Amino acid sequence: MNTITQRYNDVTARIEAAAMKSNRSAADVTLVAVSKTFTAGDIEPALKLGHRVFGENRVQESQGKWPALKQAYTDTCLHLIGPLQTNKVREAVALFDAIETLDREKLARTLAKEIQSAGNSPELFIQVNTGNEPQKAGILPDDADAFLKLCTGTYDLTVTGMMCIPPFDEDPVAHFRLLAEIAERNGLAKLSMGMSGDFETAIELGATHVRVGSAIFGSRTQQV
Ligand SMILES: *Cc1c(COP(=O)(O)O)cnc(C)c1O
Repeated sequence: MNTITQRYNDVTARIEAAAMKSNRSAADVTLVAVSKTFTAGDIEPALKLGHRVFGENRVQESQGKWPALKQAYTDTCLHLIGPLQTNKVREAVALFDAIETLDREKLARTLAKEIQSAGNSPELFIQVNTGNEPQKAGILPDDADAFLKLCTGTYDLTVTGMMCIPPFDEDPVAHFRLLAEIAERNGLAKLSMGMSGDFETAIELGATHVRVGSAIFGSRTQQV
């Protein structure tokens, strides 16, 4: 067994244990394997194991490796988990099956236009800046309800979930709880929260999608 196989099996076992601990089914938790900075050659072992859901944070980097991989493994589901600039929306809508970082009106407007003309509609998650961090992307928690209404009402977008990246140096529990609360009061079923260091906690607090990179692929040499 190579290391990716071992790490992957370890992560899926931990997901099952965390789900069981909170009386949930592991089938209700989607593992988004975050392959940013890793090459197609690094990713292929995970595809060979049968894994199909991956996350990337940059459109351009993804365009370099995913079209060929998606052609080889046609049921792959690719999530964009990094900030999306409006000038990259066309490429993003063409390549990604889910966009987790919808966080501002201009992006909602541009996505709506592109989805209509491309006839291709990625699943959408609203990113919430649960820590109110000035430098971080995401809609502020207090603005989340109104922003969702704007996306669905004014722009006719279908939004299915919410996503957060808690502040690096804080206990994530309060952030996961806050995201779950915002999603619940708005009737959204999907919650993308939890990374390599805290995905079990996120599952216990209701995550339906965990975004796990280094625990599967190893540590990243590039800073992203
Ligand atoms: C890189 C990244 C992850 C994965 O981080 P790990 O700590 O390697 O699991 C998850 N979510 C987002 C938004 C990321 O950019």
